[in-house]
Amino acid sequence: MPNSAPQTSERSLSEHDLVAAVKEAQKQAYAPYSNFPVGAVIRTASGQIFSGCNVENASYPEGTCAEAGAIANMVMHGGRDIAEIYVIGNGDGLVSPCGGCRQRIREFSNPNTTIHICGPEGVRKVITISELLPYSFGPEHLIPKQAG
Ligand SMILES: [Zn+2]
Repeated sequence: MPNSAPQTSERSLSEHDLVAAVKEAQKQAYAPYSNFPVGAVIRTASGQIFSGCNVENASYPEGTCAEAGAIANMVMHGGRDIAEIYVIGNGDGLVSPCGGCRQRIREFSNPNTTIHICGPEGVRKVITISELLPYSFGPEHLIPKQAG
């Protein structure tokens, strides 16, 4: 089962496996103030899996999102390319990444990177980062392209 440790895993991980993984990540959430646990799981282009959960604290604005945790976990282990990310929250609505996390995901995405928005029953919607954050600003705006 994927967890916070990097796993060089097969591309054969199914949607079912990734939904199971994101539910496990959600269980680790520290959300005593909002009571809104969120989990996130990234599959990188090379097939590695990284998870994260939201972590709140008594100074509310200082809490961090599940996606931010998963991205930090990925970067810490050398990952830089998000192929897909699964996000899960409870309730009837679509728990899509917040504005800040859309930009965080964008940093490590390509236009086809997919966001799988999940609820307790499974995947509710799949969209690309281009749909989630249109006309976005990204690294290519700052980093000059290398000649040749
Ligand atoms: Zn967020």
